Amino acid sequence: MNTTETKLIQEKISGYRKELFSLIQRLIQIRSYSGEEQEIVEFILSKMREYGFDEAFADGLGNAVGRIGNGPVKILFDAHIDTVKVTEGENWTYPPFEGKIVDGKIYGRGAVDEKPAMAGYLIAGKVLKEMYGNQPLPFTLYAVGSVLEEDCDGYPLLHLIEKEGIRPDYVLLGEPTDLRVYRGQRGRMEVEIATHGKSAHGAHNQQGINAIYKMAKIVSEIEQLDANLQPVEPLGKGSITVSDISSKAPSLCSVPDYCRIHIDRRLTVGETQELVVQQLQEIAQKLGIKANIWIPMYRGKSWKGTEFEQDAYFPTWILEEEHPLVQAALDSAA
Ligand SMILES: [Zn+2]
Repeated sequence: MNTTETKLIQEKISGYRKELFSLIQRLIQIRSYSGEEQEIVEFILSKMREYGFDEAFADGLGNAVGRIGNGPVKILFDAHIDTVKVTEGENWTYPPFEGKIVDGKIYGRGAVDEKPAMAGYLIAGKVLKEMYGNQPLPFTLYAVGSVLEEDCDGYPLLHLIEKEGIRPDYVLLGEPTDLRVYRGQRGRMEVEIATHGKSAHGAHNQQGINAIYKMAKIVSEIEQLDANLQPVEPLGKGSITVSDISSKAPSLCSVPDYCRIHIDRRLTVGETQELVVQQLQEIAQKLGIKANIWIPMYRGKSWKGTEFEQDAYFPTWILEEEHPLVQAALDSAA
């Protein structure tokens, strides 16, 4: 696209400012908790059809997928359209599902993360169709309103790629980044560890082996590991947090023979699931404790009734600064 075309696109988009705002408001007004996105998906698809998208459909999982053009370069714009729930304790200045505009700011659940991105993609599609109609384009643009993202980060797009056969060359995520271009994201995974002991009556505890005591040593080493993790630029430091603990004993008056912890692990550049599991195995080995270490599964069901499961592992990703997508994003944001 030459500069005159780019300028024209920008002018046209500016002309739709009001429509963009009312779209964002409408998207906020439709409550769309993870797994309950049917209404918002139907609204988005109806807008895609109204704006002349070449295709608009809900995929097998329930993502809203719109397509413009049929060119060789495949570009995917993604905005997750689910939100976390509004809980009773939250203190809202304006009602969370009203989409109220005060002093040029829109308030509501999803007003930042990330319904405005979806509205932007819709208007972008509308302008593209107005300017180019059915002329052949050098790209295929997919605008995706993905579901269930708050529950299971990577799954909706994994579904698109693996189950729907959409294989984009470039992906833009609409996550809020303070209006800056981010070219990577720390990964995240969960791990569970279990230790086993031997139960015995509390009055004769020397006849038992306490699974909690074994785990306590492991927990203490994990705290050390967290302090020793090194930053890797540009994503900084990973982290490891013991987030839950439970145990089993025949009664509260006996030695527990089972203890389990849950771990939240954030991953920086170069940290993979293999490395994480290996670090934990080394801790157990060093302590001479036999422990089971595993990555739990996420299981869920979409609004369409589609069941899915995935390892609780969402790898780090990073693009080089020189990557054409990063450069194009920086140009557009300037
Ligand atoms: Zn988000």
